[in-house]
Amino acid sequence: MENTEKRPVVLSCIQPTSIPTLGNYLGALKNWKEMSRSNDCLYAVADLHALTVHPEPSKLRAQILEMYAILLAVGLDPEESIVFIQSHVPAHAELAWILNCYTMFGEASRMTQFKDKSQKHADNINVGLFDYPVLMAADILLYQANFVPIGADQKQHLEIARDIAERFNNLRGNTFTLPEPYIGKLGAKVMSLQDPTQKMSKSDPNPKASISILDTPDVIMKKFKSAVTDSEAVVRYGEGKDGINNLMAIYSCCTGLDFEKIESEFAGKGYGDFKVKVAEAVIEELRPVRENFDNLMKDKDYLLRTAAEGADKAARIAYRTLAKAKKKVGLLSVN
Ligand code: ATP
Ligand code: MG
Repeated sequence: MENTEKRPVVLSCIQPTSIPTLGNYLGALKNWKEMSRSNDCLYAVADLHALTVHPEPSKLRAQILEMYAILLAVGLDPEESIVFIQSHVPAHAELAWILNCYTMFGEASRMTQFKDKSQKHADNINVGLFDYPVLMAADILLYQANFVPIGADQKQHLEIARDIAERFNNLRGNTFTLPEPYIGKLGAKVMSLQDPTQKMSKSDPNPKASISILDTPDVIMKKFKSAVTDSEAVVRYGEGKDGINNLMAIYSCCTGLDFEKIESEFAGKGYGDFKVKVAEAVIEELRPVRENFDNLMKDKDYLLRTAAEGADKAARIAYRTLAKAKKKVGLLSVN
């Protein structure tokens, strides 16, 4: 018998700012693959979002395709999920404008990512950076997503997306599904290897601070060996041990072991042994991703064709919602 039950819709995006880190992988990409088994999933390369930091155009073009290849390399199946590039579906930018008119300046001003990124790019605090959460709301609401798998750093943006949707629905009648965040428990916030009080970020200029998912085994080993820890020399989870807590969380994500098991595995051993084991677990976790990526990049035509098919499928859904929203706000339709 055919299963006609509607599955939840899941949507998530990643910016092509540079190669994803282990944080992006454990906090987002790994969950994306998991969720594609039991949900109707859409995953996008958020290239419009990346424009906020003025990437060099030829570099951005290359990074968009690389990021698309990475989505397939981590195991997303373009037959099973809709995998596309944001700017190929113009409805994102169009809905963002409508939603801008339903977003309050005050609420957008409270976003901590805007504050952080304005500090990092003090010479380029553009309106796009400020408007980022509204475009993100459009990304989500266009597909009537029920769940959005994100790392803990994006929680505030999801809340504003819900607030915008709720305001629009109250003023103009029910139009958008209210999205819920889906935050994986362990990889929710992978921290920097050099400053474990800061999240690991792919735009961090210090290459030792983060593991790229395409790093080779010897680079991964080297980076873990130089990870910042503390002077206690006991592998246990605890306050003031941000570096070790982070390595334990990473090890746990890659091996499935809980903290208690990890503590007993390394009882009486020093940080040196522990760091090597964490590095080995990460090397094995990322090996297939790097191999798949290398193969996919050999066939750019396949990548472009698959991205175009993904955009077609996404656009069909997006335009239904966009047409509804345009009608609700009073825009005149030509047909
Ligand atoms: P950028 O510095 O360019 O903002 P980023 O590393 O924050 O890069 P994004 O493209 O903004 O990456 O986010 C992609 C996904 O990865 C989001 O779901 C985000 O929540 C998640 N993510 C980002 N950093 C981490 C982290 N350190 N730990 C877990 N998840 C993360
Ligand atoms: Mg980010």
